[in-house]
Amino acid sequence: MATEAQTHENAVETAMASSYGIDLVELRAKYAFERQKRLNPRKNEQFIEVTGDFSHYIDDPYTTEPLVRESVVEVVDAVVIGGGFGGLLAGSKLRDAGIDNFRIIEKAADFGGTWYWNRYPGAQCDIESYIYMPLLEETGYIPTEKYAYAGELFEHAKRIGRTFDLYKAALFQTQITQLRWNEEQHRWDVATDRGDQISARFVLSASGPLNRPRLPGIPGIASFRGHTFHTSRWDYGYTGGHSRGEMVGLNDKHVAVIGTGATAIQCVPYVAQDAARLYVVQRTPSTVDVRGNRPTDPAWASTLQPGWQRARMDNFIATLNGVNDGPDLVDDGWTHLAYDTVNSLRKPDGSAFSPEEMAIAMEIADFRKGDDIRARIDRIVQDPAKAESLKPWYGMVCKRPTFNDEYLDAFNRDNVSLIDTQGRGPDRITESAIVFDGVEYPVDCIIFATGFETGTAYSRRAAFEIYGVDGLSLTQKFANGTSTLYGLATSGFPNFFMMALGQNGFKPNISDTLEEQARHIVEIVKSTLDQSKTRVEVEETAEKAWVAHVLDLAKIKLPYFEACTPGYYTGEGDIDKGLLIDTYAPGPIEFTKVIDAWRNDGRPGLVID
Ligand code: NDP
Repeated sequence: MATEAQTHENAVETAMASSYGIDLVELRAKYAFERQKRLNPRKNEQFIEVTGDFSHYIDDPYTTEPLVRESVVEVVDAVVIGGGFGGLLAGSKLRDAGIDNFRIIEKAADFGGTWYWNRYPGAQCDIESYIYMPLLEETGYIPTEKYAYAGELFEHAKRIGRTFDLYKAALFQTQITQLRWNEEQHRWDVATDRGDQISARFVLSASGPLNRPRLPGIPGIASFRGHTFHTSRWDYGYTGGHSRGEMVGLNDKHVAVIGTGATAIQCVPYVAQDAARLYVVQRTPSTVDVRGNRPTDPAWASTLQPGWQRARMDNFIATLNGVNDGPDLVDDGWTHLAYDTVNSLRKPDGSAFSPEEMAIAMEIADFRKGDDIRARIDRIVQDPAKAESLKPWYGMVCKRPTFNDEYLDAFNRDNVSLIDTQGRGPDRITESAIVFDGVEYPVDCIIFATGFETGTAYSRRAAFEIYGVDGLSLTQKFANGTSTLYGLATSGFPNFFMMALGQNGFKPNISDTLEEQARHIVEIVKSTLDQSKTRVEVEETAEKAWVAHVLDLAKIKLPYFEACTPGYYTGEGDIDKGLLIDTYAPGPIEFTKVIDAWRNDGRPGLVID
């Protein structure tokens, strides 16, 4: 029997939903039904790691020159792991702080990180480039478009490298094999696959949250005799062409793209144009909203005043979090999404919702936004059956929202077929075909747009182990979950700092998060060196208190994520391991206040010897 409170709640729900023309009961049931089809009991275990027979999937297809260099034996103040935007921000701040004796170790042949590896056709930043591309004012660069393409992002990484004289610090094509804390010297012994032996006072790890490609655990995947590659290692030697198409090598090929996440959304229109036949193999459709890219207006660019980039980044995050009283400067799909799902919510008479009403209003708004996304599909995709298959039925932030103006239209082409696997994925792969529901789809080439490892051990994704005090490995330390103070450092691993996503304030504009982390870490490094101290370690009690606080606050997010169709934001169904659950629930603006107060307070919980 329903309690009086439940009856009241149901009455409030029904009244609110019907005023918006939404049938809450029906939509909840539909979302739950679609989610059910996609549940996979193997969760994160369903994916294949790119090791052993699959390790060639992470070979570098962009470098033909093998590196020949002597091993390096040296003593430095700092080693930065990774030469992507995180490592570049760390390097630039070390230079600004006057700390010049450092190395950046990077497995690729140049700076760029994500933008070194992801050169697939159509690759583009999905956050506005004026806020996503770091250090624009410092490098004196204005992006050519609102959403710059990968080549421009890669060039910008190199520009940062040149501007801050980081090339001379770089060891490219070098993979760290082990980090070991040396308690006698208060230093990290860094070993690499080039035989380097580097003794570093500090290590700043910026190896990236989405750096290690993963493959789908489809039976028979290894038996395929045609050509295959992962989107983050695009094989232009096979496809021909370049990042904006003209892939003549595909003109006579039947190609399958497996996956329909943010990467596939961008590359599918290009493969559709060039392949003889394209099969898009879908397990769960993405939400695809308007992109609206446009060239940079030089008149606008000429009005920009010093400090404009930080102000624009702050404006974006304030808009997303509903605390922007001024204009929406970025004014794009992200800010509209936030407005439509949260910030526009007012009662018709303008008065505030009660917390109970607010929760319902947010659910209704999320459903309404979903309806917009589904209506857009009906408007663009001519075949009603395909349109139906392409419709997403889950909450708007269950998966990374995508924005694209060509993807849906690609399904109007005669040479493009959608294999809607109804949440299951293909049944198997044979020597020459993809098989689903008893039908064979013969293909020459399979392109895996299946994303990157998340929720696996930090050291597995970094591809080396880190041994702290008393030889404890980071894998052992994190066996029961990540444990850090502000996402920056962990006890038992002195002088080791992480630029990761967990346990701090998540911003969709990851460059903004990385900038904040790099700033705090370099300040700590500088202050330690200035005091002629040699050892910095987080206190276990402070770390445990922070983790408990983050997890406690995260409970508020659970009902939303528990109803989600699985994806990497929600740990592939293991919500505790999801990318978003481990972040500070009150949001990035509140997190910045917390960490700034901590710094201004003399950083309690951080012991400097
Ligand atoms: P995702 O993890 O987002 O997508 C992987 C895709 O592979 C999903 O569609 C998934 O389906 C599918 N898949 C996995 N296993 C199978 C299977 N067995 N059969 C069929 N399909 C399968 O990876 P992406 O590379 O697309 O994106 C990763 C992240 O990288 C993005 O979320 C974004 O953060 C970032 N990115 C950023 C861009 C930018 O512009 N800055 C551009 C591109 C990516 P299912 O949904 O059912 O799990």
